[in-house]
Amino acid sequence: MTFSLPPEAQDVVKTFTIKDGIYAIGVRERGVTLYNQQVRAHNLVWALSELDRAGTRKLGRIAVIGAGAAGLTATAALLSCTTEESSVMLFEKEWDLCPVQQGCDGRWLHPSLYAWPDWGSRAPSASLPVLNWSEGRASDVARTLLSGFANYRQIFGKQRFTAFVGVHHLQIKAERKQIDFIGTNVVMKDAYFSQGDSEGGTETFDTIIFAAGFGWERTNKFKTPSYWRNEQLAQPNLSVDRSRYLVSGYGDGALIDVCRLTIERFRQDTILYELFGSDLEKTEDALRQSLSGLASDTNLLDFFGQIEETLLRAPKASLRNRLRKDSAVTLHIAGQDEKKPKDFRDIFGPTSSRLNRLLIYLLFRCGAISISRRPLADAISGARVMPDHVLCRHGCDTESHLELIFDDYANVKSEFTNMKKMQAQHPKRSWAPGYFPTC
Ligand SMILES: Cc1cc2nc3c(=O)[nH]c(=O)nc-3n(C[C@H](O)[C@H](O)[C@H](O)COP(=O)(O)OP(=O)(O)OC[C@H]3O[C@@H](n4cnc5c(N)ncnc54)[C@H](O)[C@@H]3O)c2cc1C
Repeated sequence: MTFSLPPEAQDVVKTFTIKDGIYAIGVRERGVTLYNQQVRAHNLVWALSELDRAGTRKLGRIAVIGAGAAGLTATAALLSCTTEESSVMLFEKEWDLCPVQQGCDGRWLHPSLYAWPDWGSRAPSASLPVLNWSEGRASDVARTLLSGFANYRQIFGKQRFTAFVGVHHLQIKAERKQIDFIGTNVVMKDAYFSQGDSEGGTETFDTIIFAAGFGWERTNKFKTPSYWRNEQLAQPNLSVDRSRYLVSGYGDGALIDVCRLTIERFRQDTILYELFGSDLEKTEDALRQSLSGLASDTNLLDFFGQIEETLLRAPKASLRNRLRKDSAVTLHIAGQDEKKPKDFRDIFGPTSSRLNRLLIYLLFRCGAISISRRPLADAISGARVMPDHVLCRHGCDTESHLELIFDDYANVKSEFTNMKKMQAQHPKRSWAPGYFPTC
């Protein structure tokens, strides 16, 4: 039986290609969310499977590097839609699968709120065929992904799936599609596994899928815990004193932390409903209409100013009523490169979700935050903040991450740079409904 190749499949594969047979999921894309990474994983697997079926490029022995949401989704999808001729070996640096969000009870994940106020952006379900989940605490989402993954592995993965955890050494030789590694083999049982033998080796693959995330979060010298580690920022301070905090950065991680520190009883899952009340849908309609006339990368500061006395009047009043009394927060926006001081306006550029920018605008108009554009050390001493109350949210050091993993990074660097420039891995679904078996 011959299969015809959908023309888009080759184009989709191109957007993920580092070298023939080596693909990377989302590493250099902006606006990365867990859901978007899963959509990308579906798109890549769909396109590669189509190439495999048409005989254009056989998947063969596949390595998936990283068992986060992207790596688990890619692995489950591969197992479900390829034949016995393919096998998957999964490598995870930590000692468990989906280690980043696991056990994280204080952060909330939503599949599509990043796109708010777009149509359907409040829909609670990811509605994905493989490893579906609904909004919830990050720990609950991780649990759902892991139990979904166990189902796929049990139904489709027998005999052709192996995994290594605790992979503390892994290097890809892109030219040869080879991986050197030292790790511990796992023996899977339902959603859990027991430890097998530790081993080191060099394996050659036909296909390598890089899903090892974005690298370490840059924390400066303050050792800010990772965004996904449990902490107590959103809880009232159980001492009579007011605490001073400094949050450095203005991406989503920083802006959410500012909200947690300045808004009383702040919850990401309820804030929209609480601020807009019964006007929410009407307001969303109006916002959609106004925003449709603006480019997606428009700085929203002026726009918020224009709607402040109409659409934002009630939420601003509501927010003013619930500012935390036990904290004082400085938002430090000078960023990494202190030689290029940032402007206050930059907070409202396309570096974070529209909802987070809106919340920060309202906090600014309520006088709930201070802004500092000074070098970090000066900002900290000026605001009289203790070192353990400094939160650096400066993004991830992806370049060093890639350099460590790719043995011959110089040979693949330009592909990663091109990916960053092109932003071509659109998280729009390329596969047709029903393509992936669900379980
Ligand atoms: C500050 C911050 C805030 C964020 N907020 C949100 C949010 O609110 N909502 C949202 O959807 N997303 C958010 N994200 C993004 C979110 O973290 C990612 O969308 C999600 O984790 C992507 O999944 P992934 O599988 O691509 O990468 P990861 O979750 O990073 O998984 C990569 C996996 O690869 C493993 N790995 C790394 N190196 C190696 C190696 N050498 N060998 C083997 N394995 C390796 C890691 O241990 C990890 O398990 C945020 C990110 C940051 C930094």
